[in-house]
Amino acid sequence: MDYEVVIGLEVHAQMRTATKIFCSCSTSFGDEPNRNTCPVCTGQPGALPVLNRRVVEFAIRAGLATGCRINSGNVFARKNYFYPDLPKGYQISQYELPVCEHGHLDIDAGEGETRRVGITRIHMEEDAGKLVHPDDRSGVSYVDYNRACVPLLEIVSEPDMRSAAEAVAYLKALRDIVMYLGICDGNMEEGSFRCDANVSIRPRGQEAFGTRTELKNMNSFRNVQRAVEFEVERQIDVVESGGAVVQETRLWDVDKGITVTMRGKEEAHDYRYFPDPDLLPVVIDDAWIDAVRRSLPELPRARCGRFMATYGLAADAAGILTGSRALADYYEAAVERFSRPVPVANWMISELLRHLNDDNIGIEDCPVTPDGLGSLLKLVDDGTISGKIAKKIFAAMYRERRNDPGAMVEARGLRQLADGGELEGIVDTVLAEHPAEADSYRGGNRKVFGFLVGQVMRRTKGTANPGMANDILRARLEG
Ligand code: ADP
Ligand code: MG
Ligand code: ZN
Repeated sequence: MDYEVVIGLEVHAQMRTATKIFCSCSTSFGDEPNRNTCPVCTGQPGALPVLNRRVVEFAIRAGLATGCRINSGNVFARKNYFYPDLPKGYQISQYELPVCEHGHLDIDAGEGETRRVGITRIHMEEDAGKLVHPDDRSGVSYVDYNRACVPLLEIVSEPDMRSAAEAVAYLKALRDIVMYLGICDGNMEEGSFRCDANVSIRPRGQEAFGTRTELKNMNSFRNVQRAVEFEVERQIDVVESGGAVVQETRLWDVDKGITVTMRGKEEAHDYRYFPDPDLLPVVIDDAWIDAVRRSLPELPRARCGRFMATYGLAADAAGILTGSRALADYYEAAVERFSRPVPVANWMISELLRHLNDDNIGIEDCPVTPDGLGSLLKLVDDGTISGKIAKKIFAAMYRERRNDPGAMVEARGLRQLADGGELEGIVDTVLAEHPAEADSYRGGNRKVFGFLVGQVMRRTKGTANPGMANDILRARLEG
């Protein structure tokens, strides 16, 4: 039997606001436990939530960037359950009337195809605190409420993905978008961008969906890929052996590479949702939506397309350079300085990104500025230095945090030697020093030519114009 995989994703993106969603405590990560708390976020009786306007603005941004309708008059609801990291006994979320609905995201589905993944809804909610279980056999657990009330957007997709690879492509595209929008730092390890994957299978050709399981605890793209692939195989085994998939929540066990039952799936009615009486409906007028729309940056997919169309870049190069907004900005600034876009792209991808990867730093911390890189490439372009010397200078600029390649070339005496008379003199000296090799060449041993060129390069510290050095040498040997 041939099965089709069906996947829908729920993503939680932590908003990059300075303060929490319903109080003015700091959202900063990694502070001393319970330092960033107050009566509101620790759920003290009588404390009242006040909505952070910035969170609404961020939600509008996310909604507009994914083609959603923005709902004026959206409503916060209480989602009731007990857990020690949830001091109020309910989470403030949105249920029947979320802030955004009916959007979509286009992803690459391979072979130049795109697939449109529907976005069911985006809603605002608060995060819970964190339980800490020390490894000291004390039998004691602690709770840290610093994360309680930190703003999240939950972005729920339609069950439109058909493979683990598509799920990962969707997640990558969505993460790029929220990072471009500046609303989420996208850090998956720290949990600022996390996802639950809903997975089911059905016999190919069948319309009705199969029973889904929900996978949690995957904190990297690679783990999402592995977890979904494992789960699909598991479900096929269950069905093939005559069983039925049970609707449940399963945890991804990274070390074992398997998913395990965590709990039976709760239904919405288990949570006894109702509108939060402490918060008014959020009214978003058209003027606000328009203002946010005007402030949206160009999004990664559009920018990638523009890089291909206006700069003549190949799809993979454009994809790499638009991988982050900062990298794309860097590229465009460098092109402004040196207006040959393809060599700039090649240099960034081969030299610059290699240096950054070796040091494990981002473009934001690159010691070479776009101006510096542009100036260096100009020197290659106008023949002041060769490409080979340029690589050396680039490494020196990077190491010494300098951005004056012209002066560096002069100080190191690396200006390209393209003076015919001078080169002729050097060629003659080399031939006089290596009469045996010269004779060997004249006797038909063409291989020795490379050696002689090498000698000219050595004498000129690699600065001889390679084309001229070749021509003069050949003329001397054959003339
Ligand atoms: P819940 O909170 O119960 O998980 P949501 O509506 O928040 O419900 O999310 C349901 C998610 O599961 C959505 O992303 C949806 O696309 C996905 N989904 C629903 N049915 C299936 C299915 N049969 N197979 C795979 N994914 C599904
Ligand atoms: Mg769910
Ligand atoms: Zn607080």
